[in-house]
Amino acid sequence: MKTFEFIRPADPVAAVATAAQAKTAQQGADVRFVAGGTTLLDLMKLNVETPGRVLDINRLPLDKIEAMPDGGLKIGATVRNSDLAHHPMVQRDYAVLSQALLAGASAQLRNMATTAGNLLQRTRCMYFRDTAMPCNKREPGTGCPAITGSNRMLAVLGTSEHCIATNPSDMCVAMAALEATIHVQGPKGSRVVPIADFHLLPGNTPHRETVLEPGDLITHVTLPPPAADSKQVYLKLRDRASYEFALASAAVVISIRGGTVTWARIALGGVGTKPWRSPEAEAALAGQTANEANFRKAAAAALQGAKPQSENAFKIELAKRCLAHALYMATTG
Ligand SMILES: Cc1cc2nc3c(=O)[nH]c(=O)nc-3n(C[C@H](O)[C@H](O)[C@H](O)COP(=O)(O)OP(=O)(O)OC[C@H]3O[C@@H](n4cnc5c(N)ncnc54)[C@H](O)[C@@H]3O)c2cc1C
Ligand code: SF4
Repeated sequence: MKTFEFIRPADPVAAVATAAQAKTAQQGADVRFVAGGTTLLDLMKLNVETPGRVLDINRLPLDKIEAMPDGGLKIGATVRNSDLAHHPMVQRDYAVLSQALLAGASAQLRNMATTAGNLLQRTRCMYFRDTAMPCNKREPGTGCPAITGSNRMLAVLGTSEHCIATNPSDMCVAMAALEATIHVQGPKGSRVVPIADFHLLPGNTPHRETVLEPGDLITHVTLPPPAADSKQVYLKLRDRASYEFALASAAVVISIRGGTVTWARIALGGVGTKPWRSPEAEAALAGQTANEANFRKAAAAALQGAKPQSENAFKIELAKRCLAHALYMATTG
């Protein structure tokens, strides 16, 4: 691991000012914030990330979970995943988020991992994590060996000829279905970014993963008030029961009246290059009878644009079944 300077900024303003000296906030940033460290330190040990300065944000006042006057929820950037999953308001009003968090990693990791760190976790593509291999995301222009190589875990939605890496987060899938907003403090002031606009598709710049610029510090995430009478489910399918990333997952927030779907928010994980909100599935469900045939139709709509690679065509049917079953669980539970 490259040597680096470890800094504890006194407040968010100082943290932003120091991080703003970086040339990029994307892959290869020379200044990085560290929160739980469960992504960053791994990548530094592998020499995939080699920042010269690491800013510890754990002492900044960003660790609160607070009810908002409008009935929504404010989640600080350094709130630990385990604290968020077990918070009474999250368990009562945002069950899909609690379930997604508890489906991720292990208890020990969740005790360290933070809200902002989870939003910014990196792909588990094996070529990205191996500096002996080419990888467009790590070193732009070197190629994507995954397309002709090992791609069983990789994406079928949102891919490009330059990168097919999956976004591995569970939390972000639930937040996509809950229409979270990300609050950022940067050198030019504060701004808000809807989660749908936060992560970028790989296109021909897979090294750019989010809209963040140098100096940008995520301060908190807000959730809108819970939808009245909504049912919520996060279903994650994986190779083993714990400590494993999703092959396919589905976050469902749905309202039913008299057997008819009045409103639905759907997002998929494990299959997209970003947390994958599906307006197609939502439109297919709205106004329809809540039954298995319509759940299958919605799932087919969600995966309509899927593009399989040599080893991951199975994910398309798996994701359809995952979403259809999550809808069944939400509407019968
Ligand atoms: C073995 C293993 C298994 C895992 N399994 C799963 C799983 O099944 N599902 C899942 O969803 N996740 C899984 N994870 C990933 C884990 O959830 C993430 O590593 C964790 O959420 C990252 O949070 P952190 O606070 O540790 O981030 P850090 O490592 O501290 O930071 C990650 C990135 O975020 C940046 N950052 C952190 N805070 C801020 C901020 N406030 N503003 C701007 N930038 C910031 C850092 O600079 C860094 O680039 C797993 C991880 C491991 C190691
Ligand atoms: S899929 Fe993306 S991360 Fe993986 S090797 Fe290709 S460019 Fe790199």
